[in-house]
Amino acid sequence: MSETTPTTDHPADDRSRELFAAANRVLPGGVNSPVRAFRAVGGDPPFIRRASGCRIYTEDGAELIDYVASWGPALLGHAHPEVVEAVIAAARDGLSFGACTAAETELAERLCERVPSLRDGMLRMVSSGTEATMSALRLARGFTGRDLIIKADGGYHGHADMLLAAAGSGVATLGTPDCAGVPADAVNDTLVVPYNDPDAVAACFAAHPARIAAVIVEPIAGNMGCVPPREGYLQNLRDQTRAHGAVLIFDEVMTGLRVARGGAQELYGVTPDLTCLAKVLGGGLPMGAYGGDRAIMSTVAPLGPVYQAGTLSGNPLSVAAGLATLRVIDRDNPYDALESHSARLADGLRERAEHHQIPWFGTRVGSMACGFFQAGPVHDFADARGSDTERFAQWHRGMLARGIYLAPSQFECAFVSTAHDEAAIDTTLAAADEVFAELAGA
Ligand SMILES: *Cc1c(COP(=O)(O)O)cnc(C)c1O
Repeated sequence: MSETTPTTDHPADDRSRELFAAANRVLPGGVNSPVRAFRAVGGDPPFIRRASGCRIYTEDGAELIDYVASWGPALLGHAHPEVVEAVIAAARDGLSFGACTAAETELAERLCERVPSLRDGMLRMVSSGTEATMSALRLARGFTGRDLIIKADGGYHGHADMLLAAAGSGVATLGTPDCAGVPADAVNDTLVVPYNDPDAVAACFAAHPARIAAVIVEPIAGNMGCVPPREGYLQNLRDQTRAHGAVLIFDEVMTGLRVARGGAQELYGVTPDLTCLAKVLGGGLPMGAYGGDRAIMSTVAPLGPVYQAGTLSGNPLSVAAGLATLRVIDRDNPYDALESHSARLADGLRERAEHHQIPWFGTRVGSMACGFFQAGPVHDFADARGSDTERFAQWHRGMLARGIYLAPSQFECAFVSTAHDEAAIDTTLAAADEVFAELAGA
C-alpha cells in the first residue's frame, strides 16, 4: 500500500485524463476498486474502451499488451469468442431466475472432477472471491465449533472484516484491525503469521489448544507479488491442521484453474479440506465458489445450521461463462503453452535486468509471475516489502509508455493468458530492455 505523489508526467492522454476527472466527481478516487487508481505508481489510469485477446484498447486510442487480465480472470484472453457466445446465448434465455438450473449442476460436476479437494465433495456458488472466503471461514467455524482462524501476513482473501487484520505484537497473539471501520472485535479471533513459516503456525496451535477453527492460505501467495510456497510448507500445514482438528482452507481464487487444471493443490499434491475459487471460474463475470469435504459441506444451509445465501448466486450468465471457460480448457489443454510462454517472459525479464545490472528477484509459478526490485530472496511479505517501490513506479510508467499494461503495484502479479503469443512476449521484452536501460542510467 505504498503511495507516491502523482506526477504531472503521466502516461494517460487527454481523453483518459478528462474521463478520470469526471469519474473522480462521482466515484471515490475515480474507481470502484482502489488499486485501479494508480496511487502506487503515480499518474492517471488509462480508461479502457475494449479488449480482445492479450490486448486492451484505451479511450486515447492506444493499444496495450495486457498482463493485468482483469486481475486474474482472463486466462483465455479477453472476449474469447466461445465464452462471449455462451454468455449471449444464456442472456437471451433470461438473466437470472433465482431458481434451480441444470447448468449449475453441470458446472459443479465439472469442478468436482478436476479439483482434488472437491472429489467426492460438494460446493456452493457465490458471486465473488470475497464471498467465497468469508463463507468458507464461517463454515469452518460452524463445523468445528471453534472461533480462531489463522491467516498469513500479506495474504489477501478479500475484504471481509475478520480478514483485514494486521499481525499483533508477537506470533500467536491476536490480530489488530488493518483498516478503518473494522472493529477490534471483528479481528479478535484472527491470528496473523508470516507466510512460509510453519513454526509460526505451530506456535499458534500450541498457544491456543483446541481453539483454532481454520488455517486459510493462498497456496501460492499472489497478493504480495508472487511468492511461491517453500518446499514442504503446504504439506506441513496439512499435517498440523489434521493433527489439531482444524480445517485447512486453500484460497485458490487466483491460482484455481490457472496454475494447473486442478489448481495449486494438484500442482503441489496437497489436498485441503475446503477450496475457494473465483476469478478464472467466472470467465470475466462475477462468480465464486467454495467447497470440499462432504461432511463439512453438509453443515451449510439448508442441510445444516451454517446460513449462507445469495440472490444472484449461480446466475445463468456467470455459470455459462464458467462452463465455456472449462470447455475450452479441457479441449485445448493450455497449460503447457502457458508454461512455456510464461517462462519466456520471466526468463527474458531476468536476463535483461541482469544485463543492465538492475537488482530484480523474479518469481513465477505457471502463468503468474512477478519481479521484485531487490536482490531477494522473497519468501514472505516482510521480504516483499523490502523492494524498491519507487523504482517499480518508474518501471511501470516506462512500460506503459511503451504499450505494456502491468498491474500498477509492486505487490501484484503479472498474468499470461493463452492469447499471449511469442510475438507479444518479445515485444514486451524489447520494451523491458529499454526501460531497464533507462533505470540503470537514472
Ligand atoms: C482476488 C482475490 C480474492 C478476492 O476476490 P474478489 O472477487 O475480488 O472478492 C480473494 N482471494 C484471493 C487469493 C484473491 O486473489
